[in-house]
Amino acid sequence: MLQAEIDREKCTQCLECIEVCPEGVLELVDGWPFHVYTEKCKGCATCLNMCPEDAISVVEY
Ligand code: SF4
Ligand code: SF4
Repeated sequence: MLQAEIDREKCTQCLECIEVCPEGVLELVDGWPFHVYTEKCKGCATCLNMCPEDAISVVEY
């Protein structure tokens, strides 16, 4: 399974990643983008490419 991980040291909470994910995987939790629907991530890297802070990585686990 794939998971988008957010590095909070880099993230500026612009929330672009939530908007662009075509699968609706990311949601806002306590002001931070959070990978909620793990089983739905397709690893398309749209969020990763969109993030202006390079704060997202997609990992397999
Ligand atoms: S696009 Fe990047 S900087 Fe913006 S909320 Fe998502 S992880 Fe944070
Ligand atoms: S890799 Fe694609 S499907 Fe997975 S969270 Fe990012 S934009 Fe959504």
